[in-house]
Amino acid sequence: MVIAKAWVLKKHFDGFPKTSDFDLKKIELPNLKDGGKQKLLLESVFLSVDPYMRPYSQRDMKEGDIMIGTQVARIVESKNPAFALGAFVVGDRGWRTHFISDGRDLQLLPSSWPESLPRSLALGAVGMPGLTAYFGLLEVCKMKPGETVLVNAAAGAVGSVVGQIAKIGGCKVVGCAGSDDKVTYLKKIGFDEAFNYKTVKSLDEALHKASPDGYDCFFDNVGGEFACVAINQMKKFGRIAVCGAISQYNDSVPQKGPYVQIPMIFKELQMEGFIVNRWKNRWEEGLRTLLKWVMEGKVKCHEQVTEGFENMPMAFIGMLKGENLGKAVVKV
Ligand code: NDP
Repeated sequence: MVIAKAWVLKKHFDGFPKTSDFDLKKIELPNLKDGGKQKLLLESVFLSVDPYMRPYSQRDMKEGDIMIGTQVARIVESKNPAFALGAFVVGDRGWRTHFISDGRDLQLLPSSWPESLPRSLALGAVGMPGLTAYFGLLEVCKMKPGETVLVNAAAGAVGSVVGQIAKIGGCKVVGCAGSDDKVTYLKKIGFDEAFNYKTVKSLDEALHKASPDGYDCFFDNVGGEFACVAINQMKKFGRIAVCGAISQYNDSVPQKGPYVQIPMIFKELQMEGFIVNRWKNRWEEGLRTLLKWVMEGKVKCHEQVTEGFENMPMAFIGMLKGENLGKAVVKV
């Protein structure tokens, strides 16, 4: 018999999440031999902490539910011939150390996954965040060689891949992030221009200095005030991919204006929200391409690894505060 540990949402977040909003529970899992046809026992090896957990918990969860989220897990017992003992999968089973599955909700890591590559990247650059960058940039921004791309939260899981794909696509890339170390990192991985949005005197001036001609594409991870300022620096017929709004997720009172309609009209902009699952039928193509770019060194990845399942709430809160460089993951 296995005792799984799981983090539950004790209390809905009010403003910024606190560690006291979570509770660590123990769950007794049944033995597989008791009605375990086709069943698998898995142990989480890496778990992801992502910004979406903040708004989705509000929308989809009730107090007492296990926190939503994905993991890379190892098969420790198998009664399903499609899943070998010791194989690694990506699951969507929330913040728990162990779980039972019949395999239908699991994705095996590609057989071409190189031994040298950390499997945690299946939660980052070669996983959902990488795919978000890939489809958002290619299908929503429809970037073209020679264009200028702006991305915010640029040193994070999605943003860092956005900038590097834009460089692969022959664009000029401007990124901004919340610390000088992150700015240094962005330059190291090939961003043409990068600045710290927390310390610039004027966001408007910083955006103008980085690209005096304006921006063709804007990959927006942040929303709020940043987006309103950036919209005014778009070129005519510019495209804006509304990927995330992390500057608003913890607001108890919704932010107000300035509003976007006037620049949208005068510059004839396109602004489109998207969710990466729209391209679920093309995820395999995206993952194959991302894996290839990572192996060729064209997409570099940094991970912020927090050790210990007991530290999941801290890792989640830290990520929302901007403590992560690259993808925030927890190693069990
Ligand atoms: P990140 O790895 O980028 O981590 C979040 C980062 O957001 C922090 O490191 C911090 O960086 C930044 N941040 C936090 N608060 C603020 C703020 N008030 N203003 C500006 N920046 C802030 O996370 P992801 O790459 O996983 O996600 C990035 C965005 O993409 C999120 O908005 C997320 O919801 C969205 N997303 C959307 C998907 C979709 O399908 N539409 C799928 C996946 C993600 P800094 O130090 O720079 O402030």
